[in-house]
Amino acid sequence: MTDRRTELAGNLAKVEERIAAACAAAGRAREEVTLIVVTKTYPADDVRVLSELGVRQVAENRDQDAAPKHAECADLPLEWHFVGQLQTNKVRSVVGYADVVQSVDRDRLVTALSKEAVRAGREIGCLIQVALDAGAGGRGERGGIAPDGIGELADLIAGSPGLRLDGLMTVAPLTGEYAGRERAAFERLMDLSTDLRRIHPAATMVSAGMSADLEEAVAAGATHVRVGSAVLGVRARLG
Ligand SMILES: *Cc1c(COP(=O)(O)O)cnc(C)c1O
Repeated sequence: MTDRRTELAGNLAKVEERIAAACAAAGRAREEVTLIVVTKTYPADDVRVLSELGVRQVAENRDQDAAPKHAECADLPLEWHFVGQLQTNKVRSVVGYADVVQSVDRDRLVTALSKEAVRAGREIGCLIQVALDAGAGGRGERGGIAPDGIGELADLIAGSPGLRLDGLMTVAPLTGEYAGRERAAFERLMDLSTDLRRIHPAATMVSAGMSADLEEAVAAGATHVRVGSAVLGVRARLG
């Protein structure tokens, strides 16, 4: 094994142990939680090694990086998630490789995603990004809509050709009433998911938890955790 492969294998094993322990502590089966490895800022070679090590889901947050990386890794059996703020002029490119867009947070983005998905003959899974620090009718600083906007956006996605409403995503807020209260934030997301599933029963995905707070997310009931630095290392630049 190369040094990098050994390093990634060791990190993956540690993250796997953390997820397993969190599931056990919460009385959940390990299979209820899916690991998505966030490969942003790291090269395609790392994605290839991760795939060889058994990773099946990866996430990226910038189209400029993700598009060429996906092209280099198109032969790998991976599902690609897009988790960054998405401008409508990047939608055509993202629809070309993303299986799931986790950062859907406004009507115009839904319209653009639907149009391009239909054009490409693809079905794109959509998660609504929820900003738990946004006031009613508002938006989060790093994207996301306030909880009171979920219902309408969900109906729009569900009624849009080429799109599939898969569930909800959040990032633990740094400001507002949930700052420093990750467990409470993720429990709030679970309540919002319960409300959503009353109307859209197939929208079962709850994407929450990163390297620093995956235990809190698993405890709250997350179905997907998005882990970057704990697997790949601390990123050189903010991403
Ligand atoms: C970068 C990123 C992650 C992973 O963060 P780590 O702290 O590196 O685990 C998860 N979700 C989103 C939306 C991200 O941008």
